[in-house]
Amino acid sequence: MYPRTFTYGLFARENKQGYLKICVNIGGKTVLIVKKFGGSSLANKERVFNVANRILEDYIAGHEVIVVLSAQGDTTDELLDKAKEINPNPSRREMDMLLATGEQQSVSLMAMAIESLGYPAISLNAYQVPMVTTSTYGNARLKKIDSDRIRTELDRKNIVIVTGFQGINRYEDITTLGRGGSDTTAVALAAALDADKCEIFTDVNGVYTADPRVVKNARKLDEITYDEMLELASLGAKVLHNRSVELAKKYGVELVVRSSLTREEGTIVKEECRMEKMLVSGVASDKDVARIAVIGIKDEPGKAFMLFSLLAKKGINVDIILQSVGREGSKDISFTLPTSDLKEAVSIIEGNLDRISGSKVEVDEDVAKVSLVGAGMASNAGVASTMFEALYDADINIKMISTSEIKISVLVDEHDVEAAMNAIHEQFKLAASK
Ligand code: ADP
Ligand code: ASP
Ligand code: MG
Repeated sequence: MYPRTFTYGLFARENKQGYLKICVNIGGKTVLIVKKFGGSSLANKERVFNVANRILEDYIAGHEVIVVLSAQGDTTDELLDKAKEINPNPSRREMDMLLATGEQQSVSLMAMAIESLGYPAISLNAYQVPMVTTSTYGNARLKKIDSDRIRTELDRKNIVIVTGFQGINRYEDITTLGRGGSDTTAVALAAALDADKCEIFTDVNGVYTADPRVVKNARKLDEITYDEMLELASLGAKVLHNRSVELAKKYGVELVVRSSLTREEGTIVKEECRMEKMLVSGVASDKDVARIAVIGIKDEPGKAFMLFSLLAKKGINVDIILQSVGREGSKDISFTLPTSDLKEAVSIIEGNLDRISGSKVEVDEDVAKVSLVGAGMASNAGVASTMFEALYDADINIKMISTSEIKISVLVDEHDVEAAMNAIHEQFKLAASK
């Protein structure tokens, strides 16, 4: 075991320029902190140094610091565009090999920035840690993190800067965790190294009752439970990667979401909230949704099973499902799925239309899902009708509905999303009091 507490800690180190840095921690407690910074927090030189200085505040106070970084600014999107220029259908393996380079740039640049300020830092990629994932390129799951190398570097008094978003699989190939996956890397490292704190720094002041870029008077939440945050993240609130919340809940890692650009206190994500249970905690939207309708299916047992098992075999997840009442021996089944799976799903269904006994397939890509989330919902009647009233007042048509204990989702036309979010948010009086 390594000592985590000391009363008169004094350590000295020589930096590159030969200056001696003395770091003192008198009467303090050394804690291990994981700090994750997203792409916009690193978008240019000024922001890189802003982050470097925030990291150094904790280091100089005598703490151990592990930093997880995303790719700078829009680097990941630019890499995706670059790939498509060369090959519109690149293999997932090569795509991961390419996308992972964004994070590698960030960590080395940050280590250089910290070195230039006179402090010791070392960057590590997934291979060097190592962080092992499942084999699924583009959507890998972290399986095992070896803490030895990071621990050794911390003991050498280095600030350890780790690539977010990437892993290696059992073939020693590079994988990625899916868009937004650096949050998950941070939480996984916090769990693996038993960190005292895990802070997710981003470009907003915390988790809001809705995306503050869409709903202008969205209110910042002081606290939110893992369960509510998981629903919001899974339903499109990209402020946290949904698997990071899943992991945080599993390993009891308390998260703080806050801004890298302001000093405002952020939002704490944890198991139980002190506050009175809110009826509704937020509204989220997801435009990455499409709807498929299979028309004229024979109204007899086994057809829904046939349709969805064909999709499940290919790993395609469907979301909201609606089956029409059978009339004159036939029925329609429509469902939503991620836009990225649309092409494959349509080709599977069209190739099996006879087995499913459908007459045709219709596709609607210009749809989006808007969801209301709240743990208090289960015990309160009338939440759904209040939500539908808000949409009616705003003259927005609902195409599909699904509900669970703590959420209600509706499918609307994509061009109605912003109006729908604002109308629902207003109706539930979630706004900030001015
Ligand atoms: P990072 O690059 O730091 O990982 P992201 O772009 O992934 O940042 O996530 C932050 C963004 O999430 C914000 O800029 C905001 O527009 C969006 N967002 C969506 N829903 C919410 C919400 N409920 N609260 C806060 N931000 C949200
Ligand atoms: N750079 C990756 C992305 O843009 C991972 C992340 O930002 O968390 O999705
Ligand atoms: Mg993100």
